[in-house]
Amino acid sequence: MEDKGKEKQGRRSFLKTAGTAACGIALAGVAGRVISAHQKEETEGPKSRYVWQIDPAKCAFCDICETACVRTPSAVKAVNDQKKCSFCVVCYGHISNKQIESDKIMSHGERICPHDAVTRENYSGGKDGYFIYDIDHGLCTGCSKCAKECNAKGTKSMFMIIRPDLCLNCNSCNIADHCPENAIDRLWFGPEDDFRGIYELEGMQDGMMNGMEGMDNYNG
Ligand code: SF4
Ligand code: SF4
Ligand code: SF4
Repeated sequence: MEDKGKEKQGRRSFLKTAGTAACGIALAGVAGRVISAHQKEETEGPKSRYVWQIDPAKCAFCDICETACVRTPSAVKAVNDQKKCSFCVVCYGHISNKQIESDKIMSHGERICPHDAVTRENYSGGKDGYFIYDIDHGLCTGCSKCAKECNAKGTKSMFMIIRPDLCLNCNSCNIADHCPENAIDRLWFGPEDDFRGIYELEGMQDGMMNGMEGMDNYNG
């Protein structure tokens, strides 16, 4: 009887470990290609290592990632996965007034982000063209508001990451200790897919570089 109990316990912890590893691999895939696009080579650290990371399937987009990180501003940033974004004229993560005419969005739109960190670049030209949305990490404080809107009403292309090159890799992550969804795990980060190719399209490179320029002033 005791042996059976031990066997059950062993299997349970094996499944838990296997589940965490599988989740880690999937997460490293999606987060890895997006994170890599936002890192600077001189600060990104070893290509493969254990990092604290957020499971986008569990995250509820609360404000704890902004306030519980030991760094100010937080090492948590929003990202927009261009492979999932619909490049809409009106983006749920960008503005809240949906009835606005498209040529007035930049001058009149009510921003979701309190720091106006969600950037919008017209890629194809024309007022109803093809828009690239990205996050200026020099301004983003990790409040999750943009990702919350995108996940509630849009294509779920925006989500939150802990940037490994900003994270202090604390022995015990204070956000993980306070996350109500248990969404933060330490996992193996191997950015095999560097996601940079897509930014080489004409017009996107500049938009991306504008976003990264803010990092020069980043003092978190
Ligand atoms: S604390 Fe947890 S639920 Fe809240 S934004 Fe961070 S990862 Fe998501
Ligand atoms: S809304 Fe919050 S998470 Fe999104 S870009 Fe702005 S500061 Fe960052
Ligand atoms: S490990 Fe430390 S620095 Fe990194 S996200 Fe957690 S609290 Fe912030």
